[in-house]
Amino acid sequence: MAVRSTLLDRLVRGLDKASPPPAKGETGFYTDTTVCIGCKACEVACKQWNQLPADGLEWTGNSHDNTGALSAESWRHVKFIEQFPDGGPGRWLMMSDVCKHCVNAPCHEACPTGAIVYNETGNVYIQPDICNGCAYCVAACPFGVITRNLLDGHAHKCTLCYDRQRDGFVPACAKACPTASIQFGPLDELRERAQSRVEALHGRGVTSAYLYGASETETYSALNSFYLLIDKPSVYGLPDTPVHPWLHMKGDYIRAVSSGLVAVLIALIAFLALRV
Ligand code: SF4
Ligand code: SF4
Ligand code: SF4
Repeated sequence: MAVRSTLLDRLVRGLDKASPPPAKGETGFYTDTTVCIGCKACEVACKQWNQLPADGLEWTGNSHDNTGALSAESWRHVKFIEQFPDGGPGRWLMMSDVCKHCVNAPCHEACPTGAIVYNETGNVYIQPDICNGCAYCVAACPFGVITRNLLDGHAHKCTLCYDRQRDGFVPACAKACPTASIQFGPLDELRERAQSRVEALHGRGVTSAYLYGASETETYSALNSFYLLIDKPSVYGLPDTPVHPWLHMKGDYIRAVSSGLVAVLIALIAFLALRV
């Protein structure tokens, strides 16, 4: 009897779920692109902390960018945008790109295995051991953030340094940034700080400064990693108006259900007509 109950206990214990950790205040990033100097310390710190492989030293031909894009191996990507307006002096826009940790993340909704979760600090986190490599999240993300690692087949992206946050440390990229272009902290504080910076820039004549993703729009949720930009989002390779994929799919579902109903109706009419 004792052996039976021990065996049963062992079988059932595996199905027990640990209680989730209690929710803490939401954290995120505010990235002020106007003070980024393109040093790539953030990229390197991310790779070093997360033990991600180097991208190689390919010459992309795109200014000083040798990373190219965010990927399963590059969770930070510093973009270099060289502008030469007609008659005016040239300028360089630089922006350290990362997962936006969307408040309502399409990657999270598309994942069929529950591998993508919101952790206790409200960050979007992929559990690679639960990911089955279906790549639904890759297609769902409107910012092109996630890809699959070719070696393990799993999807990977920025974890917002979940491991460091749990131990009370600032994410590696924010810690390494020498100009405070990447600022980490509680979201309310970050939004306030970002708004004051926009106002300060307007006061200094930089009237094009604005926040991208700090609040929700009609077609997309707010981003917990938001940006201060001084040109159109598309100039930085961001969608001007991000759209949640569900908004496209709603019409598809309505069309599919309506055509199904019409088909049933036609079959019913044909059936009744044949019986007469
Ligand atoms: S940016 Fe993409 S990968 Fe990051 S949370 Fe949003 S949908 Fe997911
Ligand atoms: S938060 Fe951590 S994982 Fe995310 S980009 Fe920064 S260093 Fe990399
Ligand atoms: S570390 Fe800071 S200043 Fe350097 S590239 Fe990254 S965001 Fe820009």
